[in-house]
Amino acid sequence: MNAVLKVDQIVKTYGTGRLAVDRIGFQVKEGICFGLLGPNGAGKSTLMKIISGIIKADQGSISLLGQPLAANRELIGKHVGYVPQDVTLYEQLTGRQNLHFFGKMYGLNGSQLKERISEVLEKVGLTDRANEPVMSYSGGMKRRINIAAALLHKPKLVVLDEPTVGIDPQSRNHIFEMIRQMKREGTTIIYSTHYMEEAEALCDELAIIDHGKIVAEGPLYEVLEQHALPAVYVEADGWNPPSELAAVSRIQAQNKGWLIEGENALQLLHDVSNDLLQSGHRVRALQLQQPSLDSVFMKLTGAALRDE
Ligand code: ADP
Repeated sequence: MNAVLKVDQIVKTYGTGRLAVDRIGFQVKEGICFGLLGPNGAGKSTLMKIISGIIKADQGSISLLGQPLAANRELIGKHVGYVPQDVTLYEQLTGRQNLHFFGKMYGLNGSQLKERISEVLEKVGLTDRANEPVMSYSGGMKRRINIAAALLHKPKLVVLDEPTVGIDPQSRNHIFEMIRQMKREGTTIIYSTHYMEEAEALCDELAIIDHGKIVAEGPLYEVLEQHALPAVYVEADGWNPPSELAAVSRIQAQNKGWLIEGENALQLLHDVSNDLLQSGHRVRALQLQQPSLDSVFMKLTGAALRDE
């Protein structure tokens, strides 16, 4: 499958001297949803702005559809739809009027623009609210109009910066469904989030970013396979994992209990159960946990410790 986007050795330092993106490189294949995962401040937005031509990198190169962007900036306007995190709409205008304005910016006019506005409104599920002023919309509806605006010119690559932050579940589900539909139509998507369950539900491939660097990358199942182990979670009053367990597993305190990770989770479950039976501690929870992106993320970024 062809790479729609190639990002190579991108570096970006802000005026304050803060290194926001530190030699990041990856490729995005056609028609997939590529996740950019990382805690707040990791550099996701900066990278997405660079890919979408909003700001320039200090170093590195990007190619879109096989052509270097540096010499072909017009490719961005033609093929990339960027949805920023902040909603940028005219509150007094209706949803439809906002889309009209954005469509003109993309060079669309007349009946073609009208048709595209109807199509994108349908896509984001706001046809019946299109003639109401945006100020009467919920946060999620505004976000959906923002997404609609980025789709007007039928971009081949859609860049979505944390599109579900702070919105209602209905809009969130709608955005999910829309992304799945776009993938079916062959559109390539870059999706940033710090919600691991979103990445698991939507992304085919992903890069985990921390402090401006990629710390893990690849298809979802590969990242899980490489970095996550199945685990046993146990919560029992006054119980501490016996020392023999430490030799065959990685043990960490979690919530009110212990997370014990190892190659053979069933064996661990057996050993832990035996120990609990013999010691007679009161058991509150004992469960097998499948490898999750959450645990990979926590292991690689320590995000749970320093972020939300
Ligand atoms: P993320 O999207 O992962 O939360 P950002 O790309 O927004 O991360 O930020 C990466 C780093 O760059 C952070 O430390 C942030 O404070 C800093 N940063 C982002 N935008 C600016 C800016 N305009 N000026 C200075 N520093 C910035």
